Amino acid sequence: MGSQEVTSWSGQNITVAGLGVSGLSAARALAGLGASVTVVDGGDSPAHHEKADLLKKEGISVRLGDAETLPEGTDLVVTSPGWKPSSPLFEAARARGVDVVGDVEIAWRLRGPDAAPWLAITGTNGKTTTTQMLASILEAAGLRTAAVGNIGTPIIDVVLEGDDAYDVFAVELSSYQLHWAPSLRAHSGAVLNLAPDHLDWHGSMEAYAADKGRIYEGNQVACVYNVADKATENLVREADVEEGCRAIGFTLGTPGPSELGVVDGILVDRAFVENRQKSAQELAEISDVRPPAPHNIANALAAAALARAFGVEPTAVRDGLRNFTPDAHRIAHVADVDEVAYIDDSKATNTHAAQASLASYESIVWIAGGLAKGATFDELVAGAAQRLRGVVLIGRDRGLIREALQRHAPEVPVVDLDRTDTGAMSAAVQEAARLARPGDTVLMAPACASMDMFTNYNKRGEAFAEAVRELGATSV
Ligand code: ADP
Repeated sequence: MGSQEVTSWSGQNITVAGLGVSGLSAARALAGLGASVTVVDGGDSPAHHEKADLLKKEGISVRLGDAETLPEGTDLVVTSPGWKPSSPLFEAARARGVDVVGDVEIAWRLRGPDAAPWLAITGTNGKTTTTQMLASILEAAGLRTAAVGNIGTPIIDVVLEGDDAYDVFAVELSSYQLHWAPSLRAHSGAVLNLAPDHLDWHGSMEAYAADKGRIYEGNQVACVYNVADKATENLVREADVEEGCRAIGFTLGTPGPSELGVVDGILVDRAFVENRQKSAQELAEISDVRPPAPHNIANALAAAALARAFGVEPTAVRDGLRNFTPDAHRIAHVADVDEVAYIDDSKATNTHAAQASLASYESIVWIAGGLAKGATFDELVAGAAQRLRGVVLIGRDRGLIREALQRHAPEVPVVDLDRTDTGAMSAAVQEAARLARPGDTVLMAPACASMDMFTNYNKRGEAFAEAVRELGATSV
């Protein structure tokens, strides 16, 4: 079956890989359109059976305990984003000439002829924040929009609301989703930054970059890239775009023509203006961006670039940024205790994110550690050494950070908490408070995943905030 030519789902045999949120959404949507759907999942627990029973009542077949063999007669496999391309199920599909795609691809194919355009965002870090900023700006412009993709309501469900329901979408896309969405063609796309992440999934940095670069394929108006990150610009060069589509850079410095940037504390647009050789348009002030940390100004500029590519007025950019409140655990100011600020950046689950937050404060007691996911810490620690008042280490792979500190910041005091129990966060905060001086920032930006000690990064952030509250209650 040539998957591009599918016009009717009726009679198609679809195998959905994975009983997660996106898998369920895809299964229900495709069954609703008349396809014959089988969901496969390697799990076999009571929770799996409970979900399976519900689906069966809706006429959807479910096969549990075998995620590897391809059901007979499959015409198309729809995968959940996390499944590795090397999974045996996909090997089997390839061997039989059956396409494998993701939920984003299905959503794209389900759009009607008058569907709302997509403004798409990817990058190693900052995707969610930038997508939400963009949605806020589009709303401020009076447009009917939603932040979708790797965020919010499953994208298929939103698309099925019909072509008339929205004017434009702000779409967050992970590298996995891009990998599985071969025919996606966004109105405009942005790659915020590119640092090694998820390499075990993609196989190599080149493969990871290539998947991120897919966001630019077929763009019609603008390919937005980060001037400070050459790799993002290279991806624009390699992309096959529509005639007339422009490369638009964003920079924290003074923008050149066809760039957005910052001049004297003002975010300015020198791309979508009448005379970009000579003039620039004021969009917003740095203080309109929350938090006004450098990496977040960059996020705001990228969101502004996509909004301007869609024709949004400068005042809506400003209003949208002012209305935006960041999600929890992303450089969230928890409290001041004894003139020390406590910041929860639990979402800094990799070194690139932690680097951005460490660059945002002058004098830091850093709480770090957890699961390193194969990362190395030399560059991060060497870059931050001057700003570190002290470090408190938690979690399984803390030894890697300790060794990097010994190499690059041997004079910085380090408390190595040899604990991975959940109560360790409270002890870490107390140790950090002991190291901090008035005016310092205690920054929990662990540069590691949380699952050795917590269910997820939310729980880690909540444990930190709770520990800070305890500290506040006991301090005099
Ligand atoms: P994502 O959706 O890509 O994971 P988030 O907006 O949720 O991104 O932010 C994830 C983490 O990355 C946060 O800890 C935040 O401090 C950090 N971060 C946000 N934007 C950037 C950026 N532009 N560059 C580097 N780090 C960033």
